[in-house]
Amino acid sequence: MMDHQALAALLFPHITKTIAHYEAQYPQRDLPEGAVVTRIAPSPTGFVHLGNLYNAIGERLAHQTGGVFYLRIEDTDQKREVEGAVEALMDSMHYYGIHFDEGATVEGENGAYGPYRQRQRKELYQTVAKSLVERGLAYPCFCSEDDLKAMHDEQEAKKENYGYYGKYALWRDRTMEEIRAELDKGTEWVLRFRSSGDPENMIPVQDGIRGELKVQENYTDFVLLKSDGIPTYHFAHVCDDHFMRTTHVLRDESWLATLPIHVQLFDILGWARPLYCHTATLMKMDGSSKRKLSKRKDPELALSYYRAEGFPPEAVQQYLLTVLNSNFEEWHMANPTADSRAFTFSLEKMSSSGALFDLAKLDNIAKDYLSHQTAEFVYDNLLAWVKEYRTAEEAANLAENKDFYIAALNIGRGGDKPRKDFGSWQQAYDFLSFYDSSRFTRVDACPENISAEHKKEILSRYLETLDFSDDSAVWFGKVKEIADSLGYAVQVKKYKKNPELYPGSIVDVSNLIRVALTGRCNSPDLWEISHVLGEEETRRRIAEYAAI
Ligand code: GLU
Repeated sequence: MMDHQALAALLFPHITKTIAHYEAQYPQRDLPEGAVVTRIAPSPTGFVHLGNLYNAIGERLAHQTGGVFYLRIEDTDQKREVEGAVEALMDSMHYYGIHFDEGATVEGENGAYGPYRQRQRKELYQTVAKSLVERGLAYPCFCSEDDLKAMHDEQEAKKENYGYYGKYALWRDRTMEEIRAELDKGTEWVLRFRSSGDPENMIPVQDGIRGELKVQENYTDFVLLKSDGIPTYHFAHVCDDHFMRTTHVLRDESWLATLPIHVQLFDILGWARPLYCHTATLMKMDGSSKRKLSKRKDPELALSYYRAEGFPPEAVQQYLLTVLNSNFEEWHMANPTADSRAFTFSLEKMSSSGALFDLAKLDNIAKDYLSHQTAEFVYDNLLAWVKEYRTAEEAANLAENKDFYIAALNIGRGGDKPRKDFGSWQQAYDFLSFYDSSRFTRVDACPENISAEHKKEILSRYLETLDFSDDSAVWFGKVKEIADSLGYAVQVKKYKKNPELYPGSIVDVSNLIRVALTGRCNSPDLWEISHVLGEEETRRRIAEYAAI
């Protein structure tokens, strides 16, 4: 008979604490009934992805219920860790307005349930591991990589389930002497869980998004501690979410596959399971089929993409809520200008399968969102973006001409149907380019209906009659007069009825002036633009285009 106490002492001589010690150190949280304690638990691999923001939706649940939202850094895989990744992650979350009540911070950490970086919790994991060894529920395994590969190959050849179980569990029932001999040789070992699970058993698990699931009981002796004494995700997740007193675990649905391991550990340790909430993986259309967003192929999976493109954080949040929550869009339609934080978020309304990601939809939401903001808001945020992503010269130009750009941004703003010219700071900056003589280019051509001769005629008459003291109506009356005198239809309706009777319509004539002035066929009100550009620049552009 194996003496489990002796084995535990042999494997973990340095561990003197007990689980009871940690139970006392991390007491149940004193929170109102129904308060949600949840977290995001990213790995600092340098790649902050949309899923991190997606699962940070847990902040709303926590704060709606008077609970706690915290940040835990899952840094158990040192090989994949990238310098500065933790700071980048925090910066990113801050940018999106995500507020952590506790957890890892740039300076260190904040909160009574830490440390919040897993590598600093080694003693805690090993204390729990030791207690499992003492109970005969864990044992060391000295298999080499080659042993494991041979096992895998055999399972493959025999079409058997993969994993360390049954006759493949080579170290499950070894004697103390055999274990001691390997330890004396200095052979590397991992600690495995001794599972007595039966694959025929189906275990019910409650999922906050998916309802009741039935999962196959785990029957494999999975790894608890790796050879460096650092836990696997599975073991660390269970220990941490227990001792940090997490009530809800929001994580990607890819974790459903290993959920049986997690519930088995919670149950065997006698700890209450958290409510798992497996969120739908983000998908996109690729031709006519759906596929997972991929780090390699889809730049939009990186959170940095939205910041670099300049999509406002609130628009990204609104977009995510639209994709994730079946009742957000309706709420937003009823409250178009309300901040999405005012929306009451519920798990039951979250989608449980393939959330379809669509950049065009984000673009629309962002355009709509920005159309409702003040010119000052747009200007301030645009300036911050230009400072970060453009040259110092460009930033200085924007900063020095604040009133000018605010006047430009005010055109078509306000009212029932504000213009939706841009959805990102990148787009806003491109949109404003025609106001800046150093960036002004004509991207659209002269309307097709206007001959070279008419082009010169219209523009020179426009210049002759242009009077900057005219109001908008008088100004447009003059444009119509020019159009009419050259045979263009002043009423679009008439033109549409009998296009053959005219060279073109007032739309063509206006667009000619539009291209001359803004370089584009689509722009805000021309009279207003002229008044922002000023008389001199207006005349210069018209004359210049007449001469081309
Ligand atoms: N480190 C895991 C991940 O980044 C966390 C999963 C979880 O939230 O438990 O996927």
